[in-house]
Amino acid sequence: MKVVVIAGGQGTRIASLNNEIPKAMIPINGKPILEYEVEMAKRYGYTDFLFVIGHMGDQIEHHFGDGQKWGVNIEYYKEEKPLGTAGALGYLKERLTEDFFVFYGDTVMDIDMCAMLEYHKNKQADATLFLHPNDHPYDSDIVDLEMNGRIKKFCNKPHKDGFVSHNMVNAALFIFSPKILDLVEVGIKSHIEKHVLPACLEKGLKLYGYVSFEYIKDMGTPDRYYSVCDDVTSGKVARLNRKYIRPAIFLDRDGVISKEVNLLCKPEQMELIEGVGEAIRYINQKGYLAIVVTNQPVIARNLCSLEELDYIHAKLETLLGHEHAYLNAIYYCPHHPDSGYPEERKEYKIKCDCRKPAPGMLLRAAKDWNIDMSQSYMIGDRDSDVRAGENAGCKASFKIEMNKSNALLDVLKTII
Ligand SMILES: [Zn+2]
Repeated sequence: MKVVVIAGGQGTRIASLNNEIPKAMIPINGKPILEYEVEMAKRYGYTDFLFVIGHMGDQIEHHFGDGQKWGVNIEYYKEEKPLGTAGALGYLKERLTEDFFVFYGDTVMDIDMCAMLEYHKNKQADATLFLHPNDHPYDSDIVDLEMNGRIKKFCNKPHKDGFVSHNMVNAALFIFSPKILDLVEVGIKSHIEKHVLPACLEKGLKLYGYVSFEYIKDMGTPDRYYSVCDDVTSGKVARLNRKYIRPAIFLDRDGVISKEVNLLCKPEQMELIEGVGEAIRYINQKGYLAIVVTNQPVIARNLCSLEELDYIHAKLETLLGHEHAYLNAIYYCPHHPDSGYPEERKEYKIKCDCRKPAPGMLLRAAKDWNIDMSQSYMIGDRDSDVRAGENAGCKASFKIEMNKSNALLDVLKTII
């Protein structure tokens, strides 16, 4: 399977460097970004590269040659004129006859490529996009997913006032089937995100979002450059790879993050408790996953549909996004054991293993995201939350006062 690296584009002057270089050759600790990418792919057994290079591409070719020095094989496609991130793909149809990865040359990342490919194959996707939440979704291009991970639509910035969505952003790492190439116009300047992917959706191709919290960042600005250098040096980039276990903070929703309303079932009832944005941002910055685990018997009671609940959670993520904070995942139990309500949905009136104090949601999250329970915490406002944390094997569980300003942040500061 080939790895196509888009390394054309404009050159850049960055950091203390005086001469113009292609972005892919920006050094971190003396080594070009593109070299980190080559080494990462090689670690996962991908050794066939196709570099798309532009007007300063000679520097790239001079450095990498045929790739032998790295134990890989590198071919080149040289653009005569800049064709955007997608334009060159139109010329590569004969060379790309099976599914392939696409990297941008200025991306610093450490991703379990095999896990992403496995997802792509399981979904039988025509394209898989690497997605993650970020701390500024309101001015990012958002990807709207169905609950099974299939991409519904792209909501590109700028967003209108009152825009509500899950916090899911394209991180610019892809797996494409050759079918995608048919939608690239040969010789015309175009971009993957702006032109090709929307055209794929229109044609009814199967696009899926692969969600992961591994490290992936591009070199947008000098400030970003310095922070990425620090992350490489400190080992953060490698440490967030999926193969390493990570700690999490599990959070109850109502009364802890959002104001407790009896049986919340309308988006306009969703409001953050004061100080929660700062608290979740604190979790994000400390390198813990922020994971909501919430009992939502409103589904079993038929007060709200799964789609409506999903929209309520999109509203929650939007409110947090405005405060530069994000949740990594939301798990909910739609069940309720007691039947007898006239309007209830029988299929959810069961005794399940996910309704807290049962640990089902926490255990499922642990499996999904490779969480180290012995270093994780549960925070709620009821005894059932504390018991769920204990039942799941959390390091400790805490009960805070319902709807109290800054209660979450105060307890977080005592534990992490
Ligand atoms: Zn349940």
